[in-house]
Amino acid sequence: MKLYNTMSKSKEEFVPLEEGKVRMYVCGPTVYNFIHIGNARPMIVFDTVRRYFEYKGYDVNFVTNFTDVDDKIIKKAIEEGVTADEISKRYIAECKKDMEGLNVKPATTHPLATEEIGGMIELIQTLIEKGYAYAKNGTVYFRARKFKDYGKLSHKNLDDLRSGNRSLLVSGEDEKEDPLDFVLWKPKKEGEPAWESPWSDGRPGWHIECSEMSKKYLGEQIDIHAGGEDLIFPHHENEIAQSEAANGKEFAKYWLHNGFLNIDNRKMSKSLGNFFTVREISEKYDLQVLRFFMLSAHYRSPLNFSAELMEAAKNGLERIKTAADNLRFLLGNASVKEMTEAEQGKVTKAREYIVNFEKAMEDDFNTADAIAAVFELVKYANTTTDGESSKAYLQALLEMIVKLTDVLGIVVEEKEELLDGDIEALIQERQAARKERNFARADEIRGELLARGIILEDTREGVKWKRA
Ligand SMILES: [Zn+2]
Repeated sequence: MKLYNTMSKSKEEFVPLEEGKVRMYVCGPTVYNFIHIGNARPMIVFDTVRRYFEYKGYDVNFVTNFTDVDDKIIKKAIEEGVTADEISKRYIAECKKDMEGLNVKPATTHPLATEEIGGMIELIQTLIEKGYAYAKNGTVYFRARKFKDYGKLSHKNLDDLRSGNRSLLVSGEDEKEDPLDFVLWKPKKEGEPAWESPWSDGRPGWHIECSEMSKKYLGEQIDIHAGGEDLIFPHHENEIAQSEAANGKEFAKYWLHNGFLNIDNRKMSKSLGNFFTVREISEKYDLQVLRFFMLSAHYRSPLNFSAELMEAAKNGLERIKTAADNLRFLLGNASVKEMTEAEQGKVTKAREYIVNFEKAMEDDFNTADAIAAVFELVKYANTTTDGESSKAYLQALLEMIVKLTDVLGIVVEEKEELLDGDIEALIQERQAARKERNFARADEIRGELLARGIILEDTREGVKWKRA
């Protein structure tokens, strides 16, 4: 399996630190609002990476954090007149709902920055002892130049950074020894959440959070560290400096970054009015469509979001689901059990599409080509099955489709929605059962409908129903 490593700027063969295991860390969102569709991209693509490793038989330890203390959270809390804790708890819950809708698997561990402060303080202390950090009036800075590999991930030259960074010296940071130095700990301002530390009552800088949580839950060395490409500098560069300076070991073997998401070929921004939350999209589309759309491009390519492309994704997804539905329908009616010899040959042919799928995924997770292989398999299933097909053949094809779509996090097994006519017929059956005083059957029908999201209401005008 080959993956593109931002560190070497090339595709490298994946060799795990420990046989059969993958230790993976993905930087999570700062929770001060509903997540937007740009936040959803790394969630979807790296969940798919994880699923493919699992499909290959790896045991994946997948850690992703919530940054639940941050200026933006504090600002929002002040605006609403509530605590920062209330804001972050609320949006963590909302984020988890969106992730469920996107069929993103829960992480092995999903740490919160605010629950890991003690470890961060220890890590900062280690950095001070080793001469990589210094405290000035309650603020602790990392001495970037002291870490001689600083800039190795973003491939930046320190002197270019220095001249570019001069203007970034903001008030309160003028005590830095060097403009490149960055904050590990900062003292609180009035009304801000704060923790005790040897330097001041305050809170950690953003970068130290990930260094600590990755170390605590995955160890000093991990296989894969991932996130959006906007995190390469300074966030990931700073994480590397902190972790490698403190632990004296290479932090992560492979650095994976997904490309940007644009809206109608423009950068997504609130001021341009083209800003969408995942929740807003879910009002118009099943979030499976958003997931399928995101995987229709290679994860490193920029991706353009538009109504037209979402419609195309919706149709593509429908095609796959319809094929699975057809196979299930045929299975329910098939009379022949065993595969014929001709069908056995066809199964062998169909397996070639699985090989194509795997080849695409092995090439730096090329989901666009992997989806193309699924479409070929679907087409093959549609054209080689009919009422004469054996149960075994239909089953084999259905299993292949389910297995591959599951790697993509796409569910093709959902129950189809009941049609109005079917609902009316069941209601009539229930009425007849009640007339015969067969209340057990009447209740059974009510329960059956409820399980499929249909709510019955007995009124004076008769039985009314609605979809839940
Ligand atoms: Zn991070």
